[in-house]
Amino acid sequence: MNLTATHINYYQLCRRKLWLFSNGISMEHTSDTVYDGKLLHESSYPQRAQRNEEMLISAEYEGITLIGKIDYFDARNNVIHEIKRSDKVEEAHIRQVKFYLWLLELNGVEGATGLLEYPKLRKTDEVFLSEDDRGQLKKAVSVIKSLLDSDTCPPILGAKICKSCSYFDFCYSREEISDR
Ligand code: SF4
Repeated sequence: MNLTATHINYYQLCRRKLWLFSNGISMEHTSDTVYDGKLLHESSYPQRAQRNEEMLISAEYEGITLIGKIDYFDARNNVIHEIKRSDKVEEAHIRQVKFYLWLLELNGVEGATGLLEYPKLRKTDEVFLSEDDRGQLKKAVSVIKSLLDSDTCPPILGAKICKSCSYFDFCYSREEISDR
């Protein structure tokens, strides 16, 4: 079983979304987004794009392969750089970088920090991995593992975030969403 930062993010948002995604039911139309992100990366940081320093990292944890793709790792300063095309700071971005920091630790790279870069906002945020974060990530992996072992799709969330979720039509084609 492979687990990525997307799984961790969906775990935080909605167990049903995580289950659907993990069972191959995908509604995200990300190709344009991914392409735009790549363009933004290359135009914002041409020297990095030329050196092609994107780093694929993996680690085994409790029988699961954890995988991350780091935009740029500055090995000299022990800093992960993650570049976001978004024009707003999101909790999911921070979670993603913390997941990468944990992956580095599992590979024996201690004391790394993260930098979340928002070229559109001209903003950079520092990200650190705390003991509490480690505990939460370990718990997340364990819950995700048992959820994905299950044949039962979790129930509909019935929350406001459903309205902007790519699975909305799938989940609510015969349901009325509440205003919770
Ligand atoms: S629409 Fe709501 S219940 Fe369905 S996957 Fe998305 S967040 Fe979860």
